[in-house]
Amino acid sequence: MAVYATAAAVLAGVESRRGSIKSLVYASSFQNVKQLYALVCETQRYSSVLDAVIASAGLLRAEKKLRPHLAKVLVYELLMGKGFKGGGGGRWKPLLDRHRARLKAELARLKVHRGVSKNEDLLQVESKPGPASQVPRFVRVNTLKSCPDDAVDYFKRQGFSYQGRASSLEDLRTLKGKCFLLDPLLPELLVFPAQTDLHDHPLYQAGHLILQDKASCLPATLLAPPPGSHVIDACAAPGNKTSHLAALLKNQGKIFAFDLDAGRLAAMATLLARAGVSCCELAERDFLAVSPSDQRYRQVQYILLDPSCSGSGMLTRRLEEPGADAPSKARLQALAGFQRRALCHALTFPSLQRLVYSTCSLCQEENEDVVRDALQQNPGTFRLVPVLPSWPHRGLSTFPGAEHCLRASPETTLTGGFFVAVFERAEVPSSVSPAEALAPDPAPGAAPRKKRRRRAAVPGTPPLEEQEGKR
Ligand code: SAM
Repeated sequence: MAVYATAAAVLAGVESRRGSIKSLVYASSFQNVKQLYALVCETQRYSSVLDAVIASAGLLRAEKKLRPHLAKVLVYELLMGKGFKGGGGGRWKPLLDRHRARLKAELARLKVHRGVSKNEDLLQVESKPGPASQVPRFVRVNTLKSCPDDAVDYFKRQGFSYQGRASSLEDLRTLKGKCFLLDPLLPELLVFPAQTDLHDHPLYQAGHLILQDKASCLPATLLAPPPGSHVIDACAAPGNKTSHLAALLKNQGKIFAFDLDAGRLAAMATLLARAGVSCCELAERDFLAVSPSDQRYRQVQYILLDPSCSGSGMLTRRLEEPGADAPSKARLQALAGFQRRALCHALTFPSLQRLVYSTCSLCQEENEDVVRDALQQNPGTFRLVPVLPSWPHRGLSTFPGAEHCLRASPETTLTGGFFVAVFERAEVPSSVSPAEALAPDPAPGAAPRKKRRRRAAVPGTPPLEEQEGKR
């Protein structure tokens, strides 16, 4: 399908809440993902301006066969995009040529009416930026290929001004221009002002940097698998958290990564190759059908479960559809049903010691309720770990211990909306000998090890066990 028709289908899907722009762009199988994504985002950004111009030019009344979403994409391209100068637009070009003068005149009239001269200025008059648009650009340094010091030096040589490690969220909130910082909490995270675009940056292109929101770095950080261990990433694509896990493992040990979606897995394979990940086995599989008694997973002590969710906390969604945070009751029920099944299934892996459950949803049904039910179904076997005591936004107090969970939002943590719960086994399962359960694979070439102290997730703090107190 041509880019304009595909973009129109994606816009229609977003409007009817079938998914986010990103997921629908990937699902479209359109080859040039970057071109399609940019076209859809820009059309969406100018949506109400385009609606106004199309209506006052009478385009849809005159062209009865032209569907509204397609009209919007084509008019965007004509007035704000490349303008079909290179002959694009195919069979739509003659139609647009008929209306070109009128559409341009209506856009000019709108600018005069609003007292602005540039297209961009129409957007500023339209809407004041909300908290979601002020979330900084977080950049994780991929320690498989680089280190924070080298990345900092590179940016300094490019004329960026390095402000050191931030001491508070306020430092992040006031970041401007070509300045950048190290995050106050996560050691490998650089922070740039909100609108910084690094998609074309050579370090990103070479896999030295991963563009990943801070909240989405929490799951792997808090799972903290030591090098040599075996990890399951149950719902893994497109793989940002998998690449983070591989960095923590230093590529030593094994990640079994599962996902159902072949398209997302293909994108993930590219991402992992670019990030230099070599310890991951990717499989197109339903995690619910992965058998915990399969001998391949007998040493799996760590599971990351980041299942499909409503995405109601996603920044892109909040920017694309402000106020559209609430998914329908039926959708929530279906999602929470899957999340519950996946979590309870994960907790049956015999050597499991630690599990992180995360979503980018703001809905209690997908977060605290799922965690509470899983704990109730496994009484005395697993408990919640009270992680990151200084994190300001905690789980909703809907059951005792829910405050051990973390929440995140643009307003409270300057990140996307997110939820994380860390489970830890309260006792060693009887079917597995303690030695077998606790001994990770030795690093290649290294002598076999005994149980290790888990390293601190955050620099300058004691190992997680000590942060959390003796339990
Ligand atoms: N963890 C990923 C990351 O950081 O890039 C994002 C995961 S996304 C929130 C959820 C993923 O779960 C989707 O890619 C979806 O295809 C996958 N999924 C849904 N149901 C699944 C199932 N039964 N088994 C495995 N994967 C599933």
